[in-house]
Amino acid sequence: MKQNLRDGGRPRAKKALGQNFLINPGIAPKMIAESGLESGYGVLEIGPGLGALTVELAKRAKKVLAVELDRDVIPQLRSNLEGFDNVEIVQGDVLELPLDQLLEQHLPGMPRAVFGNLPYYITSPIIMRLLEERLPVEFITVMVQREAARRLAAPERSREAGAVTLAVRYYSEPRVLFDVSPGSFYPAPKVTSSVLSLRVLPQPPVAPKSPERMFSVIKAAFSQRRKTLLNSLSASLPAERDRVSAALEAAGIPSGARPEQLGLREFAALSELI
Ligand code: SAM
Repeated sequence: MKQNLRDGGRPRAKKALGQNFLINPGIAPKMIAESGLESGYGVLEIGPGLGALTVELAKRAKKVLAVELDRDVIPQLRSNLEGFDNVEIVQGDVLELPLDQLLEQHLPGMPRAVFGNLPYYITSPIIMRLLEERLPVEFITVMVQREAARRLAAPERSREAGAVTLAVRYYSEPRVLFDVSPGSFYPAPKVTSSVLSLRVLPQPPVAPKSPERMFSVIKAAFSQRRKTLLNSLSASLPAERDRVSAALEAAGIPSGARPEQLGLREFAALSELI
């Protein structure tokens, strides 16, 4: 692939846009092989940059829709993709574009997946947008910072679990595929990266009457994670301490429990009682 990462020896990558381009040629094929992508799939790629992952996706998928915010990389991206007639490039912000419509328009009638070496400054907003909008995709395979991958894929009721862990598990089954060292990118980031796979669930694992209320309770519980549930919920929710205490008791949860000791099942039950 013709890359153009340096200009007269100076890096052209824009730090503010989270540009760390893949330069290790083994990573994109491995990411795709371990994701389970098959040839009939349409792929939404987030942040194609200069196309290191796009080229490998174009070789293996039916069609690739690549969404890139930075206008300046697009001419080089197009040149690196010369010869592939199954890639559509859309310039815009993945957090703003109407993704549902774009999938319908560019990847109609095919199973779909999302790929990306994500700009790390907006990892969680991107993942949560894809999941919360219930975008019609079967799986999401993305490169993120290792710490973020561990948090997003943490088991329920574990010390690493946070509000985002439970949100991810409500919509998908997460798995960390492999780690990638900083030297695989240009410029090299400060930290190790990981490839995260999220298999989108056809149904959430719990069915509270109001998922919104369940997520408010989860957010309130984790907003002060060192506090007990009784304290953090009474401080953050519009619910009196007595009511919170009664709800915890009715759900069989000790009032001294910490948020990370609860899973989706307990939060769903609790949200019906508060
Ligand atoms: N996929 C390329 C690779 O692996 O070499 C580039 C990955 S780089 C980590 C992230 C890419 O996301 C950059 O090309 C950056 O310009 C793009 N990007 C940053 N913010 C974005 C946004 N809000 N919407 C779409 N693309 C974005």
